[in-house]
Amino acid sequence: MADCIFCKIAAGEIPSTKVYEDGQVVAFKDLEPQAPVHVLVIPKAHIASAKEITPENSAVVAHIFEVIAKIADELGLENGFRVINNCGEDGMQSVQHLHFHLLGQKKMGWPPFPQD
Ligand code: AMP
Ligand code: ZN
Repeated sequence: MADCIFCKIAAGEIPSTKVYEDGQVVAFKDLEPQAPVHVLVIPKAHIASAKEITPENSAVVAHIFEVIAKIADELGLENGFRVINNCGEDGMQSVQHLHFHLLGQKKMGWPPFPQD
């Protein structure tokens, strides 16, 4: 996708702090970290959002979760972590390329919407 910032990160055309890369996925540090560990894990292939996951492209999602487990181990998140996918307008997705936030080294709040 020509104008997709995460496609450009995956292609190395925009700088990022990568923590993991293989043929299918890239993981890099979020520019505006919301926790001491805040990494985004993306497929290299452009998938716009979780709404676009199909039987044809879903294998990469399983791989992403394998990578998340590996990265979490390497980053010392043995006490747990949170994985978040924001999808669409109500989900407050701001970058239209599928990505999973890996957040850790912080006790998370639950429920996620205490103001409701
Ligand atoms: P979302 O709101 O779920 O779409 O998350 C998009 C995330 O991408 C936000 O947490 C941003 O801080 C992050 N982000 C946007 N541009 C970049 C970039 N160039 N490098 C790293 N993270 C980015
Ligand atoms: Zn893209």
